[in-house]
Amino acid sequence: MSEDQPHQNLAIIGHVDHGKSTLVGRLLYETGSVPEHVIEQHKEEAEEKGKGGFEFAYVMDNLAEERERGVTIDIAHQEFDTDDYNFTIVDCPGHRDFVKNMITGASQADNAVLVVAADDGVAPQTREHVFLARTLGINELIIGINKMDLVDYSEDSYKEVISEVTDLLNQVQFATDDTTFIPISAFEGDNIAEESDETAWYDGPTLLEALNDLPEPEPPTDAPLRLPIQDVYTISGIGTVPVGRIETGTLNMGDNVSFQPSDVGGEVKTIEMHHEEVPSAAPGDNVGFNVRGIGKDDIRRGDVCGPADDPPSVAETFQAQVVVMQHPSVITAGYTPVFHAHTAQVACTIESIDQKIDPSTGEVAEEDPDFIKSGDAAVVTVRPQKPLSIEPSSEIPELGSFAIRDMGQTIAAGKVLSVEE
Ligand code: GDP
Repeated sequence: MSEDQPHQNLAIIGHVDHGKSTLVGRLLYETGSVPEHVIEQHKEEAEEKGKGGFEFAYVMDNLAEERERGVTIDIAHQEFDTDDYNFTIVDCPGHRDFVKNMITGASQADNAVLVVAADDGVAPQTREHVFLARTLGINELIIGINKMDLVDYSEDSYKEVISEVTDLLNQVQFATDDTTFIPISAFEGDNIAEESDETAWYDGPTLLEALNDLPEPEPPTDAPLRLPIQDVYTISGIGTVPVGRIETGTLNMGDNVSFQPSDVGGEVKTIEMHHEEVPSAAPGDNVGFNVRGIGKDDIRRGDVCGPADDPPSVAETFQAQVVVMQHPSVITAGYTPVFHAHTAQVACTIESIDQKIDPSTGEVAEEDPDFIKSGDAAVVTVRPQKPLSIEPSSEIPELGSFAIRDMGQTIAAGKVLSVEE
């Protein structure tokens, strides 16, 4: 993998069974990124079962299994290169917590490929994922109309699905003028790495070409340091070492920092990255560091570290825009699920539902509605039950989004509009 190519975090989204895993497997395979042992193992198993061909979904299943067994946390397994970019697939599609990770995961996606099966068209999770992508600020969508082999590579079927998807994108106000649609078969490999003979009527780019043509992600903002704390260790000879990933800003030796909401601070004595001491660290870096005078019990997971003179805000209440994805009944004021924001998990009460938003126009559909339900978008006022550090997404997008979980599921997602400290 190339270190100096610009990096892209890519999400693969779409309805279950439309071919996300197969596509990821295919992309890794075509770019020579599948570990040799996975290919070998699969060949053996396929021969035993008397099956030919290469099932690309298998690659992903195998990696997911390895990960569950704790064998591999090697991110390289989900990376591939095009001529101009180094891509990381953000989390494993199909993974139970995919949606949550899309929001609070270590790496948020810059762009996404939406997979829509040609024989099925727009389905419930197609809508849900497009809605989420819009809410969470995915820049560009590339639309892969998959399983073209199942509709005999018919241009009419392709156009029909394009028109359904275009309607959906218009509804949630994704600009569709320069959206790239590509007829693909993840299974057969059509228009992934090479132009397909089966789709003579199509003269656009292959999927890999389209990925390579994506605009470069925006350079990191000049936002102040925000470093959500993942864990706090005690290391002999050094002392207390909080670890986490820098979302914005830089961390330098000698900086005066503050941890919120624990509300303690001090001077940065040492910074470590990959077991080596470094003088400073930048967005995307996973660091362990030591701050003068801070003990293990002074700080905790969910704290955010920032400059002492521009500390992370702690919300007494905050206003947010939420999208309800799946809730078995209705959500009313007083509901208190767990909010997941960066590394924090805090029970928060939805104090009031202020406005229902029409997703097709983004305009207010109803003031002070009594309830909201699955599929609704709304502006709500939220009161954390314990101190929570969170920021308006217009100021620091990396710390301005959250997932709402209840009953073991992600039921809603949202972004912070404003914070009352
Ligand atoms: P996911 O749930 O979106 O990750 O979907 P999978 O990748 O697991 O695919 C679901 C099923 O569709 C599997 O049986 C795949 O083999 C099959 N599939 C995926 N892509 C294609 C394709 O392009 N053509 C055909 N015929 N089948 C496909």
